Amino acid sequence: MADPRQLEFKLRAFLDLKDGSRIGQFWSDCPFCPDEKRRLGISIREQMFAVHCFHCGYSGNPASLLRDLGGKWEGRAPVYRRISLETWSQSQRDFATRPKDNPAPPCSLPREFSQLDRRSLTHKSAWDYINSRGHARETILAFGMGYCLRGKFSGRIVFPIHYEGALVGYQGRAIADDLKPKYRFSDDFQASDYLFNFDRACHSTTVVIMEGIFDVLSLPDCSVAVFGNMLSETQTLQVIRTWKKAIVMLDPQEKANARRIFRKLSPFMDTRVAVLSRTDPGASTQKEIQAAIKSARNKERWIL
Ligand SMILES: [Zn+2]
Repeated sequence: MADPRQLEFKLRAFLDLKDGSRIGQFWSDCPFCPDEKRRLGISIREQMFAVHCFHCGYSGNPASLLRDLGGKWEGRAPVYRRISLETWSQSQRDFATRPKDNPAPPCSLPREFSQLDRRSLTHKSAWDYINSRGHARETILAFGMGYCLRGKFSGRIVFPIHYEGALVGYQGRAIADDLKPKYRFSDDFQASDYLFNFDRACHSTTVVIMEGIFDVLSLPDCSVAVFGNMLSETQTLQVIRTWKKAIVMLDPQEKANARRIFRKLSPFMDTRVAVLSRTDPGASTQKEIQAAIKSARNKERWIL
């Protein structure tokens, strides 16, 4: 059996390892790319050996990393629970733009945008739609939602998207079924670079990862939306660096993607999967959401 301590000791001869948030988890500058922000994650925990660079995509396990660095590892390859690497090999597009390296250009809301106003008759259809989803008025106001009567976003509820205090983009959601596409982003907004509700949820120790903005409205203090059903490399690193624990809560039919996200996060942080049985988080009751969180499970068998 491989000795995690010994592996760590050997790797330290080559890399300047900084402790991560869990025992056996480390960060280092990646020796295989021009990374200077400690984006190489190393997990030397029993049952969970993984190495991944969130900049260049280098993947492996601590023993293969040691060999790639020119070191020797005579023991048995400690990969008795190997992370499936193909789930990590994403396109380089993900690495090209990241919020911290390339701050988003200043963005402003569309000219036609007006803050949702309960007294406004022209906003009635928007309010009716929101009421049909059962969200509290305070929540709607806290997220600064608006509505567009004209222009490219006409007939859409518009959600401003902030990151570190700055408006980086917005998303419009059609309220009529026949208005396509259902979702529309502001020009040049790279959804895979951001987590919706990051600024609010970053104060929590646990994050609940959901698909869309309406899902987040059900759990506004501690959830983020990924604008889809997969985590990009940028979003993955952001989650690992920001929170101690993650709970993946996708729509009930997205089990395969929940599994993929679990595999990406679990070597580097406490990760659980919450399963809703009836419908997506945005349409579930508080009782259903709380019950799913309470019974969220670690799915380590998914890694095999
Ligand atoms: Zn790298």
